[in-house]
Amino acid sequence: MPSQRQIYVTKPSMPSKEEYFAEVSDLWETGILTHSGVKHQELERHLLKFLDVPYITLFTNGHLGLEAAFSLFPAGGEVITTPFTFVSTTLAIVRAGLTPVFCDIEPEQYTLDPSLVEKAITPNTVAIAPVHVYGNVCDCGAIDAIAKAYNLKVVYDAAHAFGECVDGAGVATFGDMSMFSFHATKVFNTGEGGGVACSDGTLKRKLDAWKYYGFETSGGDVEVVGANAKMTEFAAAMGLCNLRHFAEEQVKRAHVCACYRNNLNGVAGIHFCPEQPHVQSNYAYLPVTIESELYCRDVVVSRMDDQGVHSRKYFYPLTSEYTCFEYLHANPEDTPIALKASREVLTLPLYADLSEDDINRVCEALVKALR
Ligand SMILES: *Cc1c(COP(=O)(O)O)cnc(C)c1O
Repeated sequence: MPSQRQIYVTKPSMPSKEEYFAEVSDLWETGILTHSGVKHQELERHLLKFLDVPYITLFTNGHLGLEAAFSLFPAGGEVITTPFTFVSTTLAIVRAGLTPVFCDIEPEQYTLDPSLVEKAITPNTVAIAPVHVYGNVCDCGAIDAIAKAYNLKVVYDAAHAFGECVDGAGVATFGDMSMFSFHATKVFNTGEGGGVACSDGTLKRKLDAWKYYGFETSGGDVEVVGANAKMTEFAAAMGLCNLRHFAEEQVKRAHVCACYRNNLNGVAGIHFCPEQPHVQSNYAYLPVTIESELYCRDVVVSRMDDQGVHSRKYFYPLTSEYTCFEYLHANPEDTPIALKASREVLTLPLYADLSEDDINRVCEALVKALR
């Protein structure tokens, strides 16, 4: 069999070398490579407008942004969250000295089910940490209302939700803090990077201090046990370039998603998450559910791999199943919808430059794998 070209699940968006080199060239004159330099400041300014949020703090990566956010709560508190996410969400809660309490997701969008949140609240609960998985936006209205009623904070893991709007408002205008990831594989990237958007200036100051060892002002006192998690000028410059191309990339991603939905429409045993009419999507991921009554998702993934088409079991396993969280004694059967999703969902190759020929190859590989 002739070796065939592989189609990978993602490919990072990059500006031209010329554009990036032009953006970073003045760093050789200023010699300022980090510490909230001009690129960092400029990117923060652009993102405030772009994301429609009052405050944002940039980080070395999204994970450390989440850790910073959770570190603002008194250690020992409980955080109600979803196990159907990337391990980072759960790790950040634990590393901030808090205890994750796993709550199930709803079956259509795979986001935290607000109707189950209230039952999980105890006197120790300090926050709710929902995740906009795949860019599927949570029921923010319901979640924020519960938080308000019980005087809890909401920290959204918006790693997948960059640039999305809900009824015209930026997705990070909900809750108290929202973390965006700018990892190479995300819709908007700075190589490694992230940002935490927040609703008030006090939070912004605390997050700024946390990422700078806890110093509130340079040379001043250290009041919080912070870390070093500042974004470098090289990463911020990458962000400035990629942001210029975000809109055009979105058009291409939307087209890729439409082609997939169209090509695979009516194939028995698989389905897509329903589109959210109130959400301006960012087309970050295209999850496909392989109904376990008919097919085995893992077999489908490996049969596609054999054809040079690489999908991803995303998310598998549940974070509550990882060895490092055994001490929590969380039973995956207690979150049956999340458990089922982790056994049924795969995400298809998706990036702006994925050609129609490649989309067709992916669809053919999937259909063949189902035979
Ligand atoms: C990518 C991701 C993170 C972590 O972001 P990094 O920038 O890679 O540190 C956290 N949560 C989710 C859901 C993610 O997909």
